[in-house]
Amino acid sequence: MDKFIYLDNAATTRTAPEVVNAMLPFFSENYGNASSIYRLGTESKRAIMQSREIIAGSLNADPAEIYFTAGGTEADNWALVAAAECCEGRGGHIITSKIEHHAVLHTCQYLEKRGFEVSYIDVDENGILKPEDLKKAIRKDTILISVMYANNEIGSIQPIKEIGELARENGILFHTDAVQAYGHLAIDVKDLNIDLLSASGHKLNGPKGVGFLYIRKGIKIRSFLHGGAQERRRRAGTENVPGIVGLGAAAKLAFSQLEERRKKVQKLRDYLIERIEKEIPYCRLNGDRERRLPNNINFSFRFIEGESLLIMLDMKGICASSGSACTSGSLDPSHVLLAIGLPHEIAHGSLRLTLSEENTIEEMDETVAAIKEAVGKLRQMSPLYEDFIKKQN
Ligand code: PLP
Repeated sequence: MDKFIYLDNAATTRTAPEVVNAMLPFFSENYGNASSIYRLGTESKRAIMQSREIIAGSLNADPAEIYFTAGGTEADNWALVAAAECCEGRGGHIITSKIEHHAVLHTCQYLEKRGFEVSYIDVDENGILKPEDLKKAIRKDTILISVMYANNEIGSIQPIKEIGELARENGILFHTDAVQAYGHLAIDVKDLNIDLLSASGHKLNGPKGVGFLYIRKGIKIRSFLHGGAQERRRRAGTENVPGIVGLGAAAKLAFSQLEERRKKVQKLRDYLIERIEKEIPYCRLNGDRERRLPNNINFSFRFIEGESLLIMLDMKGICASSGSACTSGSLDPSHVLLAIGLPHEIAHGSLRLTLSEENTIEEMDETVAAIKEAVGKLRQMSPLYEDFIKKQN
């Protein structure tokens, strides 16, 4: 493939070579089923245990609290459906935010169809949920609060500690979708009062199709998949040994370099934000300036279509993502951008750039130049921009 600049790490990340190397033997050498009693099987079992220990250690959890899944979506579905079912006797009210990933929102809609009631809490103009709004929404029959750790589109980091405290004080289960945060931010499940946490391998230089759900000890959550006795009878199915090994290796790598990676990526992020704000007029940074993922940049550019901008950037070898719901094939702008109060036409002109520590300052310069050129060209073609400029003069 030709040279490209990859700025879509919230969509997925490059599997790190160390991770691939750790996984390789588990395809065609140590390929035993972890449930088998001979050595080839026990080798797999041992490798799974090792990954479980690495992940538990990274969260200040116990290895017995980590359950491997086939990714973040499964972990979110499991957490919500099983938590709702296990607490059903106590009530049927769930609280979540308006900016959750569809893995949570669509599961909430499914639960609504089954008779649960869901409150979708607003966020402020920077995409942060206010704990006082959450407090007001809590009812006697509230059984579950699910609020994401950090948003996948605008990078806003939620007040997880306050939410955890509110949940604990009121005897409500607290789930957080940490798919975008795990491996990028330090997370201590005990300190934050988290009962359930979802994460996914491919967002931290691990493989796709593997993730985990942390379930705090003592929580009686039922099995999600029924079948064999894997994952302590809570998640049946022959374990994805190479995937689990890869996830463990990715977690080890991420947490051993957490601070240096964060600093490096944040520096690139701030450089790019500063240059765009200085050099491209009529743009708006979406998401909170401070409480934001170290690698996330999200801008709306007035008078342009995000999709056209993406195509023009792609022609220059830049991989980015837009704020409109292109993946769902719908013309609606992202629910996240609407929830922070952007009008449709501005939400449509959005661009998300998510960096990694592999990016360079030269790539940032190339990206700014490419965005400037593309935005300029698109505005030249825009009747709305023409009108706007005429009115200015
Ligand atoms: N939750 C969030 C916040 C995400 O960003 C994603 C993926 O983009 C998911 C859940 C789903 O994770 P997976 O792709 O592993 O199913």
